[in-house]
This record gives sequence, C-alpha cells and structure tokens, in this order.
Amino acid sequence: MLRANAKGEASVQAIFITGGASGIGRAIAERFAREGWRVGLADVDAAGLAATAALLPDGAETYVMDVRDRDAWVAALDDFTAKAGRLDVLANNAGIPLGGPLAEAAFDEIDRTVAINLTGVINGARIGHAYLKRTPGACLLNTASASAIYGSAGLAIYSATKFGVRALTEALDGEWAGDGIRVRGLVPAFIDTPLLAHPTAGSNRSIRETVTGAGLELSPVEDVAEAAWRAVHGDALFEYVGKTAHRLRFAARWMPGR
Ligand code: NAD
Repeated sequence: MLRANAKGEASVQAIFITGGASGIGRAIAERFAREGWRVGLADVDAAGLAATAALLPDGAETYVMDVRDRDAWVAALDDFTAKAGRLDVLANNAGIPLGGPLAEAAFDEIDRTVAINLTGVINGARIGHAYLKRTPGACLLNTASASAIYGSAGLAIYSATKFGVRALTEALDGEWAGDGIRVRGLVPAFIDTPLLAHPTAGSNRSIRETVTGAGLELSPVEDVAEAAWRAVHGDALFEYVGKTAHRLRFAARWMPGR
C-alpha cells in the first residue's frame, strides 16, 4: 500500500512496534507486513525480535531496547525513520503482568510494572510525537487492556497502569488533533499469548490455567492484530477484543483463598 509522504513522494508506510518479539506485537507486525508496510520492532528480547523478523516477507528493522530507556527510544526512532523515511504508526505495546494482592507486592515489582506499562508508554508518546508529526495522518496506537475498564481485584497495579494508558490515549487524541495525529487504543481481554504463561500470584498455576480453569475463553492473537488494523484505519477511539471482558468484574474469585 503506497501513498504520498510529506514531500509528496510515494513511499511505503511504516510501523514501529514495541513488544515486537512476542504475542500481540508479533501478530501486529505480521498483519501490517502482509499489507506491504515497513516494520520496526523493539523489545528487550533479541532472539524473539529475530524470530518475528524472520516471519515477515521483507524482514524488519530490529531494536533491542527497553521502553524505560529514553535515549534508546530516540536512537531507535532516529534510525528507523532515517531508513523508512516516515512513521505512520507507533504501536506502544510492550507490557508485563503483575498479579496478586497489593498488600503483598514487592515495591521493586510495583515500580517496574509502572515504569514499563505506564511510563514506557508515556516515553513512546512523548518521544514519538515529533516523528509522528512529520507524517500526515499518523497514528499512535496504545495497547491497554480490559483491566483499563474494570479495576480488577488481584490486578490492582496492572489495572492502574492500564487505566493510565487508556486516559493517556483519550487525552492525547484531543491534544494532538491539531498536529494531525490520531491516537487509538487496543483493549484486549485474555488473548492467547506467552504472557499467560506467567504464574498466577500466590499459586503454582499459570495465568492461562487460572483463566481457562475459571471457564473464561481465550481469543486468538490474530483478533488483536485485526483490531489494530481497524484502529489505525477507523474512527473508534478504542478497539475491544475478547470474549470475556465483562466477566473481569468477577476477577476477585480467581484470587487464591477467596
Ligand atoms: P507477551 O509477553 O507475549 O509480549 C510482551 C512483550 O513485551 C515481550 O516480548 C517482552 O519481552 C516485551 N517487553 C517486556 N518488557 C519490556 C520492556 N521493558 N521494554 C521492551 N519490551 C518489553 O505479551 P502480550 O500478551 O503480547 O502483551 C502485549 C501487550 O498486550 C501488553 O501491554 C499486555 O499488557 C497487553 N495485554 C495482553 C493481554 C493478554 O491476554 N495477552 C490482555 C490485555 C492486554
């Protein structure tokens, strides 16, 4: 898919995706690459980045970086936009789960979760803005969660970070309208990705076992990639993906001992 860039030259559209080594980020990369987009992938997982790039017909530029590292953001976006000539979509997707009762959570884990899930997304928005502004019709796409809609018992910090991502999305869509940048959010609930292999806090079971054991259905990762495509091309501020979002209200029942 080609269209004119800021200088009126035809060039290939470009997407930069954090958390591109796995799960939802990888699926978004495959979806956009299928349409001929140029892909930049960022993640802390070098092997996963290479594996995603190998799945794409034209490969990808890969950046081993941590979304908490602001200098790394600048270096990666400088390099990617120098190569691609534009930045149509910045997918702020990297995130980690933190479950369990807040009263028992380690402070370093709380700080790490906020720094990656919320400050990392703010870093991408703050630093990415200048690059997105140069490409007409550009879009910032943030991955929130159904935990951005319901404050889930047992997922208090994760929910707080995702509420923050949702708020940032809505605020910036208004704030950046004058710059010609749209801001969109993904709101997935229980997607079949490696994230679900993380242990459920306070138990030996994985999140996947806890969720499916509670009778909740998982959605395929391709559904989120499709939602990302719709989000970038449509008018909706948020794209919801999942079969069980409304049942998150009852999250308290997954907590061990409740
Ligand atoms: P995943 O674990 O498969 O992928 C997350 C990726 O983020 C990994 O490759 C990981 O290495 C990377 N990452 C972690 N910390 C990073 C950091 N500091 N800097 C750069 N990269 C980092 O998980 P996923 O399910 O694909 O999750 C992607 C996003 O979707 C996350 O924000 C997650 O919170 C959100 N989400 C997932 C689900 C779900 O059910 N899987 C539901 C709602 C929201």
